[in-house]
Amino acid sequence: MADLSAVTAGIPSVSSAYIHIPFCVRKCAYCDFLSFPSCVDQIGEYVDAVCNEVLLAKKWFSSGDSDTDAAGSQAPLRTIYFGGGTPSLLSPSQVGRILEALSKAYGISEGCEITLEANPGTVDEEKLSGFREAGINRLSIGIQSLDDSVLKTLGRIHDAETAKRAVIDAKAAGFSNISCDMMLGIPGQTMKSVQDTLSFFLEKEIPHISLYSLILEEGTPMYARYGGDIEKYVTQEEDREMYHLVISALKENGFIHYEISNMARPGFESRHNSMYWRAEPYYAFGVGAHYYIGSERGRHAETLDEYLSAMKNSPVKKEDVLFTEEILSEEDRKKEFMMLGFRTRSGVGEQAFFQRFKVNVESAFGAEIEKEIKAGLVEFSDGAYRLTEKGFDLANQVFMDYV
Ligand code: SF4
Repeated sequence: MADLSAVTAGIPSVSSAYIHIPFCVRKCAYCDFLSFPSCVDQIGEYVDAVCNEVLLAKKWFSSGDSDTDAAGSQAPLRTIYFGGGTPSLLSPSQVGRILEALSKAYGISEGCEITLEANPGTVDEEKLSGFREAGINRLSIGIQSLDDSVLKTLGRIHDAETAKRAVIDAKAAGFSNISCDMMLGIPGQTMKSVQDTLSFFLEKEIPHISLYSLILEEGTPMYARYGGDIEKYVTQEEDREMYHLVISALKENGFIHYEISNMARPGFESRHNSMYWRAEPYYAFGVGAHYYIGSERGRHAETLDEYLSAMKNSPVKKEDVLFTEEILSEEDRKKEFMMLGFRTRSGVGEQAFFQRFKVNVESAFGAEIEKEIKAGLVEFSDGAYRLTEKGFDLANQVFMDYV
């Protein structure tokens, strides 16, 4: 491993892990995530490979250098996130095996937030109870909408009834820390349909909502269907109107708009995602998963075959599984810290910036901050620079200053 000590000073130790589960029942019409719809019969083999990688990676990330030795110097994990794909296609015992491997290799701290993304079409109360027993304590449910015509447009496998059932089952299984995803700006979606979905979330006292506007990605069936014509079906103004409707309704109901796309009741903010927004390092395991260790960003083999066959090598070679994408310079890390910090309501703390980089944020980015304050996009209060309401709406203008 390269000598990274000059660029890793001040980087917090690793205490989070992401596990990518790339399987789905079938591909949704808008999806370009790394997920494979027809390989569900390979789940068992995949879980074996991930467990093996979790144990091997501890050695891969141990350089022996106290500045770069992420695994050697790390505290037990404080957040774990099963994302996908559809992690709820795993059985509770498969999830339990991965958690056991993580515990053995890195330790899991008391009170660790352990999230699993669940697709409503793949769970029932019994399975959800099993996930809880296996150690999952936070569910992120991909509801998207409770309007059947919208769900059909999106090509989701679930309908509104199934989605409602999943929420009710999750509560019955004992989950209180639940997040629901909600999509906006979908052709055919009305304000009433947005309102109805929201009303259900409020009625069921869901404490965390993630909001996404539909993005048409090239190569997806929805791109082929609507392509450059999306404005004919839903305008940017309509999309923003839906967004503001949701934000203000949730605020009225005690939610905090703690990140551009996320709202939570106090105490239910995602600790794992907050770790990303503080630009902290994390392990990642599984096909295509991106990691950030020391000052190195990298990814895993991106096809299932490539990943599974590399994990069958004897011995398994790190360079067949993990690929360095970039080594961040101190300058890159400062910019990233600004950009990610500005995504959140807590913003960029003067003290936090100094602690990380041993330099004042004003001397690093004084000109940019002054310009943003003059434009009404950023304000300073309680020791932090943060986006104003206007800034939240025009966040990309601020982000451009740190590209
Ligand atoms: S469930 Fe999620 S990851 Fe799977 S195809 Fe649909 S959008 Fe993509």
